[in-house]
Amino acid sequence: VVMKEKHVKPWADQIGSFGADTDSVIIDVEHGNPLMYEPFWRATEEKTRVVINGWQNMSYKPQGSNICWYMEPRLSQEIVRLHRLVGNARTDGRHIVVGTGSMQLYQAALYALSPPEAAQPIGVVSTAPYYSVSMLAIFEASAEFLRSRLYQWAGDAHSFKNDATYIEVVCSPNNPDGFFKEAVRRTIHDLAYYLPQYAPITAAATHDIMLFPFSKVTGHAGSRIGWALVKDREVAKKMTRFVDLNALGVSQDSQLRAAQILGAVSDGYELGGGHAGPERFFDHGRRILEERWERLREAVRSCGSFSLPDQFPSAGCSFTGKRMQLLPAFAWMKCEREDAENCAELLRSHNILTRTGKEFGSGPEYARLSMLDKDENFNLLIRRLCSIS
Ligand code: PMP
Repeated sequence: VVMKEKHVKPWADQIGSFGADTDSVIIDVEHGNPLMYEPFWRATEEKTRVVINGWQNMSYKPQGSNICWYMEPRLSQEIVRLHRLVGNARTDGRHIVVGTGSMQLYQAALYALSPPEAAQPIGVVSTAPYYSVSMLAIFEASAEFLRSRLYQWAGDAHSFKNDATYIEVVCSPNNPDGFFKEAVRRTIHDLAYYLPQYAPITAAATHDIMLFPFSKVTGHAGSRIGWALVKDREVAKKMTRFVDLNALGVSQDSQLRAAQILGAVSDGYELGGGHAGPERFFDHGRRILEERWERLREAVRSCGSFSLPDQFPSAGCSFTGKRMQLLPAFAWMKCEREDAENCAELLRSHNILTRTGKEFGSGPEYARLSMLDKDENFNLLIRRLCSIS
């Protein structure tokens, strides 16, 4: 819904056309493009290569039987294996529903949770700052092109504190500000960042509907795979029905690729293979994010025009067995200058593209920056921030 054409040239091309003048290079950290993980996957090429012959995956329905009838059995096995390894969510007694990214599963879950016979559409709320893409998908899609009579965006959950007649979307750790969140109502839990590279794993989550985007687990946004762990069989059936009506299932080619890559992550821990050099996937992601957060904090300190959330809380992580800090995939930056109220505009004037706080239900003094872009882009970002006075 919100991916606008930006025509930003790749970094290397821009450098080429601007010579040594890197100040003119546009740094696009608006989208959470997870290219930070690319070098890791380059180094494990053989273990993650998938060959699909012309005669394969021709039927709408893969082998096996499941509530989610279009799900590849190999993918469901690898999803369960990964959650058991990481310990971030319970899979026993749960049904898996696969979607074309977790974005599709947002819609599927809202469809499944909305009372079909209600006179009024049910309201959907979330606490600000909330994840803008999901809200836009819910709000714009339901109001404008689906013209849904089932549900509608109702706004910031703070305004409806004790009213249980809403569906609440909870993203925890949250996009954009990175903190853990809790809810009180019928909920959809987006656990995109409840993974060991971004957060300490404190307990296996047991919420009714838990969403995981493959794009944030391993960085493969382009495969467009996501899954939901769903407690209630009828809700899982309705979510499957939604995807069925929407697209007659989810690409089996993509599902097999996701299964192969998730398998390589688990192999890295369980068999000692599938990883680049001595590092395994989550350790690798965590190390890079740790370094990046340190560098970003330093740059923001030296620049003086902005601030970041104070140190993130830490907790014992059952996956690593150590005390770990939150390391969000986005930086929620605040403009502290008296002569500039709009953080995203100030950054744009220095050729840094971000997303304004207004899109997350917050003020224009905030902007969200991706921490997951490729090294070159992140290095340029740090250099540019240091040069803003
Ligand atoms: N949920 C959250 C909280 C996200 O940040 C993102 C990606 N930015 C998504 C979902 C999107 O997931 P997918 O790529 O699977 O549609």
